[in-house]
Amino acid sequence: MRLILLGPPGAGKGTQAKRLEERYGISQISTGDMLRAEVKAGSPIGLEAKAIMERGDLVPDAIITAMLAARVSAPGSAKGFILDGFPRTVPQAESLDRMLAEKAMPLDQVIELKVDDAALVERIAGRFTCAKCGEGYHDSFKQPAKAGVCDACGSTEFTRRADDKAETVAARLDAYHRQTAPLLPHYAAQGKLRQVDGMAEMDEVTRQIAAVLGAG
Ligand code: ADP
Ligand code: ADP
Ligand code: ZN
Repeated sequence: MRLILLGPPGAGKGTQAKRLEERYGISQISTGDMLRAEVKAGSPIGLEAKAIMERGDLVPDAIITAMLAARVSAPGSAKGFILDGFPRTVPQAESLDRMLAEKAMPLDQVIELKVDDAALVERIAGRFTCAKCGEGYHDSFKQPAKAGVCDACGSTEFTRRADDKAETVAARLDAYHRQTAPLLPHYAAQGKLRQVDGMAEMDEVTRQIAAVLGAG
């Protein structure tokens, strides 16, 4: 199964991608996670991307597309994948269309998580993750069962993203509306776009996605 999760920053793409990964045995491919790993490693891509990400702008298409191509061809993606945070521009979507056509690996569905901008600001401001295993949490919506201890791995260290600040969120939402929202008609024209209510609570969103996938 090959899917795209499309939606604004904070919509719940990463949260739902991890659940799909477990349920269907397909891999989550997050260009945001890949870029953060490059920044942490201090690689040439990381050095170029760091300031752009901290401003809330999009990293140039050429860098992203090259990074993604390697990952889609990797053996771990043979059973399928969930793209989370890619594509984000029309040129990225066109590159992906060509890449998948060459490999005869068509996309099954593109699932849009619809969430209001006001809710996104709250979601992003409260987001934190386990520093050790990457499990996602939220100050109001998903605290660990035992305060300060990761449910998944027991670690007591958590991190917050440098770009999850109120000042940056507006720029990221603006980038979404200007550069990424045009992908909705792109995939609607291919008959692949499905919509899910991302405002619902996490388990309900998971159920709605399962219903969409079950319906084929
Ligand atoms: P994205 O990958 O789209 O940026 P995340 O999955 O990281 O979004 O979710 C953003 C934040 O909102 C996280 O802190 C997450 O725990 C929380 N969250 C995700 N889905 C929901 C939901 N349906 N309701 C409330 N909070 C949510
Ligand atoms: P979110 O879903 O919360 O916006 P991501 O982790 O997907 O966050 O992305 C974080 C940042 O990484 C983006 O604001 C952007 O600077 C960069 N980025 C991630 N994916 C892409 C992409 N496909 N194209 C361009 N920039 C990207
Ligand atoms: Zn953990």
